[in-house]
Amino acid sequence: MPDPRLRIEDLRVTFPARAGRAPVEALKGVSVEAYPGEVLGIVGESGSGKSTLARSVLHLQAIDGGRIWLDDTEWSTLVPAALRRQRHAVQMVFQDPHASLNPRLTIRETLAEALRCRPQRPRGKAARQEIEGWLDRVGLPKDAAQRYPHEFSGGQRQRIAIARALIPQPQVVVADEPVSALDVSIQAQILNLLESLRQELDLTFVFITHDLELVGYWADRVAVMRRGEVVEQGDAEAVLQRPQHAYTQELLASAADKRVRY
Ligand code: ADP
Ligand code: MG
Repeated sequence: MPDPRLRIEDLRVTFPARAGRAPVEALKGVSVEAYPGEVLGIVGESGSGKSTLARSVLHLQAIDGGRIWLDDTEWSTLVPAALRRQRHAVQMVFQDPHASLNPRLTIRETLAEALRCRPQRPRGKAARQEIEGWLDRVGLPKDAAQRYPHEFSGGQRQRIAIARALIPQPQVVVADEPVSALDVSIQAQILNLLESLRQELDLTFVFITHDLELVGYWADRVAVMRRGEVVEQGDAEAVLQRPQHAYTQELLASAADKRVRY
């Protein structure tokens, strides 16, 4: 095995008590690794801590313990100036492209902003060409650049969000339920787009989903989360075919149930 690209060690996040409720230990010491070029699936039911994990990796959530490494850099302790220089290296695709795209910016403006995150950013004509190249790459027409997010379908908006995440030239992309808000007929198209970009750009993905079927479709390895802990991780095929933990077996059984009911 090569060294991990992303290494998460004993990560802890607790949300303080609110309005008479007990504190929530959203992450209780999570350790996972993503190797270069792989798709690491993170699966678990709603509330298991998946988004908190994603947000911690993106520095959108402060952590209470543990460490995150990006190659040889201790990513979780970067001071703000160093983080600004390196932020492009880890990007995120959110579940809801409607909420994550600024409705007041044209697609060109949104993508131009992403281009500014790059350490060596193209300007002027080169920037315009780069943006048009990206629209084409993610399967959108050239005239999309002048338009606004509300003029697109959910799938198209997710294509825009994917371009925005990849334009900074990240090494790691964290995709938190990237197709969960989309029609089933569109889900495979978007995952296929992500997979072709992964191959072309040698990206490492953390693919977060509550849907075991989607993990089976795309992930190389998988970590199963339950109530803030990873209960099982390994090769995706092995975990899905021969789950060792009772919780994974339950998840698989309930996924099979749902299929029968459709
Ligand atoms: P998942 O993405 O797997 O559904 P989350 O990471 O969103 O899970 O949530 C994990 C737990 O942390 C849940 O119990 C959730 O209610 C709680 N939680 C998440 N964000 C916050 C927050 N900002 N404040 C308080 N509790 C939170
Ligand atoms: Mg979530």
